[in-house]
Amino acid sequence: MYDLYRPGSKHFALTWQAKNNNIARFCRHSYRLKRINNPIAFARDLRVLAGQLEVVQLERLHDLLTDVSGALDWRLAGERGRRGEPLLRLTVEGGLLLACQRCLGAVPFDLDIDSLLELVPAGAELSQEELEDDSRDFLPVAHDLDVAELVEDEILLALPVAPRHEKCGLPGVADDGGRIHPFAALAGFKGKLN
Ligand SMILES: [Zn+2]
Repeated sequence: MYDLYRPGSKHFALTWQAKNNNIARFCRHSYRLKRINNPIAFARDLRVLAGQLEVVQLERLHDLLTDVSGALDWRLAGERGRRGEPLLRLTVEGGLLLACQRCLGAVPFDLDIDSLLELVPAGAELSQEELEDDSRDFLPVAHDLDVAELVEDEILLALPVAPRHEKCGLPGVADDGGRIHPFAALAGFKGKLN
């Protein structure tokens, strides 16, 4: 009988060690631990998970930004559709500073994402009807879901393709490619007269 219990206690010790390793990992890359185990069950049970992600952690966005400081608020909530299908509602809010395509200066952009994703098991075949249904957004999921990756994906979809200032106004850079604006010339002329 005693021997039967030993493997159990050994297992417990290993589990504890694994937990410590996880804590160490948590300190290094806290965002990498934001994973949802069994996302389909998460949705069916109507669970909710929310938090913040630092922009510096969302590396796929970095080339598009002038500044990677700050953080974004995210929230994932499980829902059930009319046919009982598992849904995830993802909201992301916060500000980003996009790089202007013309002058490379910062273009402030307010994120206000509200996406409803229908979870399907990874590798599941979708019917033609489902594939053509624009009102549904399918998200194939495996045994777990990386929250940072999902948030990053949805942000990339929400950003403007070519962010630009309405009028680029960097000091010393003229909008029209360096030609002197007639009014600027006039101002200079007036200055001489005075
Ligand atoms: Zn600009």
